[in-house]
Amino acid sequence: MAKKAAFFNPFYRVCSRVSGFKLSMRKLTALLAACAFVFLAGCSGGTAASHTTFVMDTFFTQTYYGDPGLAGEGDKIVSDIENKMSRTREGSDIYNLNESGIYEVSEETLYVLKTALDIAAETRGAFNPALAPLIELWGIGEEGTDAPPRQSEIEALLPLTDYRDADVWEGGTVVLPPGAGLDLGGIAKGYALDRVAENLRAKGVISALIDLGGSIAVIGKKPDGTAYRIGVRDPMGSASEYIATVELADAFTSTSGIYERYFIADDGVRYHHILDSATGRPAERGLFSCMIVSDQGILSDAYSTALFVMGAEAGLHYAEKNGIDALFVTEDKKIMMTDGFAEKYSFELTADDYEVI
Ligand code: ADP
Ligand code: MG
Repeated sequence: MAKKAAFFNPFYRVCSRVSGFKLSMRKLTALLAACAFVFLAGCSGGTAASHTTFVMDTFFTQTYYGDPGLAGEGDKIVSDIENKMSRTREGSDIYNLNESGIYEVSEETLYVLKTALDIAAETRGAFNPALAPLIELWGIGEEGTDAPPRQSEIEALLPLTDYRDADVWEGGTVVLPPGAGLDLGGIAKGYALDRVAENLRAKGVISALIDLGGSIAVIGKKPDGTAYRIGVRDPMGSASEYIATVELADAFTSTSGIYERYFIADDGVRYHHILDSATGRPAERGLFSCMIVSDQGILSDAYSTALFVMGAEAGLHYAEKNGIDALFVTEDKKIMMTDGFAEKYSFELTADDYEVI
C-alpha cells in the first residue's frame, strides 16, 4: 500500500495542485496556515526559511537556507510570469494574443513560446501549446464542469489547434489564425522555477527545494549533506501519499498525472487535463503519470506533458533516444524508467502493490 507522508517527514512530498482560480474557504485556510515563515534548525547550515503562496493556480512553496527576504523575490518572479503567460488573466501577453490574433509579446513570453513550439515540433504535437480552444471547450478543473463536450464540438475545433499555424515574426509579434489560441500551462511553471532557482543561486543560496504545483527545483543537497528526497505521488491516493521516492540534487523535476486536474462524469468516467492533439480528448495511453528529471525546469515541465501523451512505450523510446530522464507509472501499477534515470537517481519503491519493470 502507499505510504502517507507525515508532517516533517524526512523526505519532501510533491504538493497537491488545487484547480480553479477562486479560492474556497478550505484553500484559503490552508494557504493562510502555510503562509507564515517557518524556521527550522538546520543540522549545519543555519536556518531554513519555508514560505508558501498561491500563484499560477497552485501552491508555491520555497524552502531554502538563506535570507528569508528572498522568498518575496521568488513570489514576484512567479507572479510576473503568470501576468505575462496566463491564458485566462486579462491583459497577459497570451490573453491579448488569443483575443486579437496578432500581438507583440514580451521577450520572456517569446522565449517560452519559442521553446514550446520547438518541443511541439520535436514531439510531433504530443506537446502542443496551441490547444487553447479545446482546453476551453473541455473546461477541465473549472468549477461546474461535469460532462465531456460533444464529439462534434471537439471535431469542429481540432483543425484550429495546429501549432504549426502559429506564426512568430522577428521582433516578437505572434500571429494566429482566426479562432486559434495558445496555452502555456504545460511549460510556464517549469520556466518559472528556472528563474526562481537562478535568483536564489545568484543570491548565494546553495540548498533549496522549490515546489510549484508539483514541478520542483532542487538546489544542492540538504545542509547535512544528504540529497533531497522527492515522493512519487500515489496516483489514486491523496496528495500526501506516495509509492516511491527519488533522491535529487541540483535538478528540476516535473510530473504530469491524471490526478492534478480532472472531473468524474455521471457515468463514472474520469477526464483529466492533459489532451491528446490527435483526438482532442484526454490522453489515454494507460498511464497514471510521467516524471521527468532535467537540468532545466522548462524542459522537465514540457517533456513530462509530452511523454505522458505519448504513453510508456513510445515515451520510453523517445526519452532513450533523446537523452531524457523519464519515469512512467502505468495504470496497471508498473513503474518503468529510462536507463539514465535508473543510473543517475537513487530510487526506492515504497508501495508493495507496485512493481518496477
Ligand atoms: P500541470 O500543469 O498540472 O503540472 P502539465 O505540466 O502536464 O501539468 O500541464 C498540463 C496543462 O498544460 C493543462 O492544464 C493545459 O493547460 C496544458 N495542456 C494540456 N494538454 C497539453 C498538451 N498536449 N501539450 C501542451 N500543453 C497541454
Ligand atoms: Mg508539463
